[in-house]
Amino acid sequence: MRARTVVRGVGEVAADAPVATADDPGLRGDGFFETLLVRDGIVRLDAHLDRFERSAAAFGVRVDRREWAALAARLAADVPAGAEAVLRLTVARGGVEFATVRPLPAGVVRGRAGVRAITLARGTATVPDAPWLLAAAKTSSYAVNSAALREAARRGADDAVLVDADGFVLEAPTANVLWRRDGRWHTPPQAGRAVLPGTTLAAVAARVGVTEAPVRPGDLPGSEGVWLLSSLRGAAPVLTLDGRAVGTDAAATALLAAIALGTRDGSAGPAPGGTIAG
Ligand code: PLP
Repeated sequence: MRARTVVRGVGEVAADAPVATADDPGLRGDGFFETLLVRDGIVRLDAHLDRFERSAAAFGVRVDRREWAALAARLAADVPAGAEAVLRLTVARGGVEFATVRPLPAGVVRGRAGVRAITLARGTATVPDAPWLLAAAKTSSYAVNSAALREAARRGADDAVLVDADGFVLEAPTANVLWRRDGRWHTPPQAGRAVLPGTTLAAVAARVGVTEAPVRPGDLPGSEGVWLLSSLRGAAPVLTLDGRAVGTDAAATALLAAIALGTRDGSAGPAPGGTIAG
């Protein structure tokens, strides 16, 4: 597939063309974005646009939903059937706005088979309810997320599970955490905590029901399975956490992947609902 870049107000540019000026606020992380999976169409475009609009509101700007939806559709249109691609919508506050489509990195596909994770401290347990803290916005300030992934790699792991100052699980640097115990699905509490409300988690919750529960990393290996949920990977089973084997369940992983990746098997059937809004 062809990598493409469209800059709003400019038009399509070469995929490797520079798009920002030296003074662009986006280069200081002052902006927001969405990462979507293209796989026989855009997976959960509406949920992503909902969060895009919420991020925009947190930044005090408006995004034209219809224009962005049209742009997304235009870029996704020439991703061949059966291929997968990453679609990204980016807004720098008062700066460049662009959309890109790129082939799905091989590492993302590998992650679907399972990841070895380690726990890393995230510090803060709670986030005060203050608009300038941009809670629940998907901001471009990913330096800490990227650094956590580098630290995981440095320690020989594939991914990280971030824990708060009290030792409770928050999320992963680019994914939400889901686990199953006694046949029930759980995720850490989100409200007022440093956790991004994931579109994948919401889709899973709408299908199988997910209850929020605090958990310490040491309790996760004793569960029936732990997964990292995100748009690109879908549901990556955690194979080990801090070197301890975690229970895996191939049937559960297949169900979650079908829901997360938007295949027909995952989108049909009853929706029992959960405590996470679908
Ligand atoms: N949490 C963080 C910090 C993320 O960066 C992401 C996705 O990039 C997620 C959770 C999962 O969100 P989604 O399922 O919408 O991709």
